[in-house]
Amino acid sequence: MRVLLLGGGGREHALALGLAGDPSVEQLIAAPGNPGIASLASLQGVDPCDPAAVAALAVETGVDLVVIGPEAPLVAGVADAVRAKGIPAFGPSAEAARLEGSKTFAKDVMTAAGVPTARAYTCTDAESTARALDEFGAPYVVKNDGLAAGKGVVVTDDRAAALRHAEECGRVVVEEYLAGPEVSLFVVTDGEAAVPLLPAQDFKRVGDGDTGPNTGGMGAYAPLPWAPPGLVDEVMRDVVHPTLAEMARRGTPFAGLLYVGLAITADGPRVIEFNARFGDPETQVVLALLETPLAGLLHAAATGTLAGHPPLRWRDGAAVTVVVAAEGYPAAPRSGDVITGAEGPGVIHAGTRRADDGALLSSGGRVLCATATGTDLAAARDAAYALVAGVELAGSHHRTDIAAAAVEGRITIPG
Ligand code: AMP
Repeated sequence: MRVLLLGGGGREHALALGLAGDPSVEQLIAAPGNPGIASLASLQGVDPCDPAAVAALAVETGVDLVVIGPEAPLVAGVADAVRAKGIPAFGPSAEAARLEGSKTFAKDVMTAAGVPTARAYTCTDAESTARALDEFGAPYVVKNDGLAAGKGVVVTDDRAAALRHAEECGRVVVEEYLAGPEVSLFVVTDGEAAVPLLPAQDFKRVGDGDTGPNTGGMGAYAPLPWAPPGLVDEVMRDVVHPTLAEMARRGTPFAGLLYVGLAITADGPRVIEFNARFGDPETQVVLALLETPLAGLLHAAATGTLAGHPPLRWRDGAAVTVVVAAEGYPAAPRSGDVITGAEGPGVIHAGTRRADDGALLSSGGRVLCATATGTDLAAARDAAYALVAGVELAGSHHRTDIAAAAVEGRITIPG
């Protein structure tokens, strides 16, 4: 199989590792890729958000599958353009990607499908925002209604800050606060059949102990030793299948990767958000544990044949990834610093580029994801931090408590 992978972050490097490791993949092409992906794929300088350019590249290179990593190409209609050429694409149509692209649309689908989620109001002016904030009380949750690369959400006890964020965004969703540990569940689907991957947990806040501003994600681990038994079955029954049925009923079936972000509350799992693609950095840990060949699985989803796909096989043990971020991330990340010690296996490239002289430079907020597996969570965590210790990047920072609460048995479900 020949595969074209779109994107150039840590998620795509993890996808590239999975795709390149699938014996059925004879050629992997990536656009635009990154220096980590360059050792696994041939890179093409095509804009992944340009539907016509991607479709032309897919035809020209004769690929059997296009795997779309980030959300922006999905919302731009890249999957539609590729499918219009008769080439299977892993990723939803632009219409179906609105599950991620618009929080209001997602709430609408959840309500119609009876999916358990936070109560919410869409607000476009200060008066209705204030009313919604006061109805739910603190902590206040205010979400930008559009795509914001994981940074459009403010959770705060400060009412004035909540109002300010709403004013800056224009159109927001104000919702009730959901108390409980969070779970990211990835579901591969062809629109009807759906296969869950291992649940994972990510770390959104920049600082240890969940302090500081939200980020795209500072680390992740899988599986979740504290997850209630039956959690995945319950989420498939109460969230995933009703959502897929509602999307199909609307004439916009969702095929690709449905990312279900959940809070495990005293009343059971509640959806915090849907995304229309693999999460970053959870992909790095989930795929590190997947033994089933990745390209075959994604091809089955892209061709409507997932029901006939064999059950997934997983490696024993656990995986942990720790994000090494640039100085100033998330507010104002500095780029262009030299990175050393990033050559070893497990160091996934997220925001890097090659200088003309071959040096590896930082080129984004999240620069590297130190990713390791182990016989258990503690061993995986220690191995990931050993990789972090080998990386040198001036001014960089990382969280020191990724997976710590799970290793120490400190995660509890309210109630
Ligand atoms: P989102 O972009 O919707 O995933 O939100 C980013 C982060 O904000 C989530 O991972 C949660 O940590 C937090 N968050 C969002 N919505 C809620 C909510 N209703 N209650 C509690 N925390 C939330």
